[in-house]
Amino acid sequence: MDCATESEGMHYEGNCIRPPPEASSILLQVTLGCSHNKCTFCGTYRDKPFRKKDNDIILSDILFAARYMKRQDRVFLMDGDALIIPQKRLMWVLDRIKEHLPWVKRVAAYANVKSIRMKSRQELAELQKNGLGTLYLGVETGDDEIRKKINKGSSAQECLEMGKKVKHAGMELTVTVLLGIAGKERSMDHAHSTGELISAIDPNYVSALTLILIPGTPLWKEYERGDFKLPDEQGLLIEMKEMIVYTNLSNGLFSSNHASNYLPIRAWLPRGKQEALDLIDAALRGEIGLKPEWMRAF
Ligand code: SF4
Repeated sequence: MDCATESEGMHYEGNCIRPPPEASSILLQVTLGCSHNKCTFCGTYRDKPFRKKDNDIILSDILFAARYMKRQDRVFLMDGDALIIPQKRLMWVLDRIKEHLPWVKRVAAYANVKSIRMKSRQELAELQKNGLGTLYLGVETGDDEIRKKINKGSSAQECLEMGKKVKHAGMELTVTVLLGIAGKERSMDHAHSTGELISAIDPNYVSALTLILIPGTPLWKEYERGDFKLPDEQGLLIEMKEMIVYTNLSNGLFSSNHASNYLPIRAWLPRGKQEALDLIDAALRGEIGLKPEWMRAF
C-alpha cells in the first residue's frame, strides 16, 4: 500500500537538466546526479553526489503532478541516469505513474552504457511495456582514444552493443554526440568514427551538441595548460559536416538544434543529407549567420 501523501510542490534538489524535447514533460526527479560523474568535460553534477531518492518523496511528487500537471502527457525521469535504479524499484515508479497519471503517454530517461549493461534484455523489454518509451544515451564520440581521454567509462563497441540493446527492447533511442570534444588535432577522426558509430547503432534521433568548456572541470584545466585546443567556429562546422557525411541512418533525425550549437540543423537521414550538407557549406561561405557566442549555452 502507498503511504505517502502529496506535500507542497515538487522536491527538486540541485541543478536539474533535461533534454530539449522534454521541455513540456513532467520532470520527476528519481535520482540525484550521475552514477558515473567522471567525464572530464561534464560539470553538470560535480557538486551533487549520486543518490537514489526515497520512494515516499517520489510518490509525493507523482501525487503533486496528479493534481497540478494534468495537461502534460509525458514524464521525464531525472537526474543523470535514472535507468540505474534497480528493476523492481523502477517498475514500481512506472506503476505509480500509470496509477496516478493515467493521461501520461510516455516516460523517458537518460541512460549510460553502465546502466543499460546492468539491465537484461528482458528487463528492458518489461520497462518498455510498462511505459518507459525513450532513452537518451550520451555517445559523445566513436573514437576510443578520445573516449578514454574524456573518461567516458566505456568503449565504442560497448556503446554500440548497449544502443542496439535499447532498440531491441522496442524503445526509442536518442543519442547525443559532442562536437569539439576531440580538440583541433583529432577533429576529423572524431567526425568520421562518430558518424560510423551512430550509423551502426542506427538510433531514432541524433542530437549534436557543441562543447562549451566548463570552469573547474578536468578538461577546462587541460585547456588552461594549453593541452586542449577547441576548434574555431569554422572548424566545428566542418566537423559537423564530416560527421553527417559519415552518418547513414535507416530513418533518423540528425539535429543540431541544441542551444550550444552555432548552426541549427534538422535533417531526416538519409533523404535530407544533401540539403544539410548544402546548408553547412552556405554557412561556411558566410551566407548564413551563426549563433552569437553570448546566445550559446550547454
Ligand atoms: S555520464 Fe553524462 S552526466 Fe554523467 S558525467 Fe558523463 S556526461 Fe556527465
